[in-house]
Amino acid sequence: MTELASKGLEQLITEGEHPCACGRLHSAALRYVKIGPGAVRHLAEALRLLSVSRPFVVFDENTLAAAGDRVLSRLGEGGIPHVRFVFDKSPQKMEPDEHAVGALAMAFDPGCDGILAVGSGVINDCCKVLAHACGLPLITVGTAPSMDGYASNSSSMVQRRIKVSLYVKCPDALICDTDIMKEAPGQMLMAGLGDMLAKYISVCEWRISHLVTGEYYCESIAGLMRAAVRRCVAMADGLMRREERAVAAVAEGLVLSGIAMSYAGISRPASGLEHYFSHLWEMMALERGEASDLHGIQVGVGTLLTLFLMEELAKTRPDRQTAERAMRSFRTEVWNEEVRGIFGRTAPSVIEAAGRLGLNDPARHAARLDRILAHWEEILAILREELPDASQLLGKMRALGMPCCPADLGISLEDTRKAFRGSRVIRDKYLTSTLIWDLGLTERFEGMLRERY
Ligand SMILES: [Zn+2]
Ligand SMILES: [Zn+2]
Repeated sequence: MTELASKGLEQLITEGEHPCACGRLHSAALRYVKIGPGAVRHLAEALRLLSVSRPFVVFDENTLAAAGDRVLSRLGEGGIPHVRFVFDKSPQKMEPDEHAVGALAMAFDPGCDGILAVGSGVINDCCKVLAHACGLPLITVGTAPSMDGYASNSSSMVQRRIKVSLYVKCPDALICDTDIMKEAPGQMLMAGLGDMLAKYISVCEWRISHLVTGEYYCESIAGLMRAAVRRCVAMADGLMRREERAVAAVAEGLVLSGIAMSYAGISRPASGLEHYFSHLWEMMALERGEASDLHGIQVGVGTLLTLFLMEELAKTRPDRQTAERAMRSFRTEVWNEEVRGIFGRTAPSVIEAAGRLGLNDPARHAARLDRILAHWEEILAILREELPDASQLLGKMRALGMPCCPADLGISLEDTRKAFRGSRVIRDKYLTSTLIWDLGLTERFEGMLRERY
């Protein structure tokens, strides 16, 4: 058995199933990947591999300007007939919603036998939905190293004005031409780095959850993510100078994150509490009809917030009395009211799911508390081993010009408090905020957030 972290990206996807020490066979849905300068020259080869002879090619006006010439000339040289679709420039930010997918579906030519998405977040998400609905192969030409959804099978969508993750389809082939990617807007480069910084937290929380809840964990996949985030951080300065190898490192890290999620069959390797800060801020903005910052930019801020909480947690002495007192004083009616204040329109489904999953169940809480208290020294060791120094990371992000606190994003402290509180109940996923709740310390940590920010 070879360690996953010692394998190259192409090996990881083309070798089929990888037997692993965790007892599982890991495999990814992505079948073809090329990352590097001039990678778009492989486009005809990717189409051939997937037996696509007439792709439906999707751009928006920005990606058409950034990559149109290169993509269309490759199709022309290969004599590949295609149908082109360009999303209009609208006054608002393009949303991955029914309107966008509907526009694609209405323009779709049934004579096409594959989808070629040229873009990053929104275009990739919408094309995954379309390819899934039509049952056709999907090839993505990434235009910015801005988020880690390139190699994942889920689309982050807005459905009936509510944020949802739809499990649709992973692209079959992915081409990240760093000549195109390095010219992406600076905000998108920062967003990609922000989405990679999250991996410090996600791996750390995954290990803690394994210890406290017995959730499945794979050390090889965790190792893959650790190596990827370290490479990205080591090259972060070069990223903002648009150096080819730094852009490639971030693009590779983002693609690896998708592969790691495929391998694990869950989002654990790539997403933790920092993603829930972003997710909840976005939901609140949507509720008010306001726009949000780029996903990865928010996730970068969420990473610093979570690091702060984890550092404070490491200074805390857990005690059974405080935890049990908090659980005894839990009142469902009060909690329901709180959830309505945080989630608005989505509150009924959050309340229903929390009941079904037993997220507030005293017996489950008691079992977890026993394990936390019995393993506290190990939890502290995990925090020490996995986390970077928060002030150093803050310094690095500041120097790169990245937003570093909610105020930098125009987000209020109250919305941040609500996001922290709401994160625990949005899914059945054990997060730092769950650990804090288990210890009966939610209010105390909210106070710390208020003081710090
Ligand atoms: Zn494994
Ligand atoms: Zn992300």
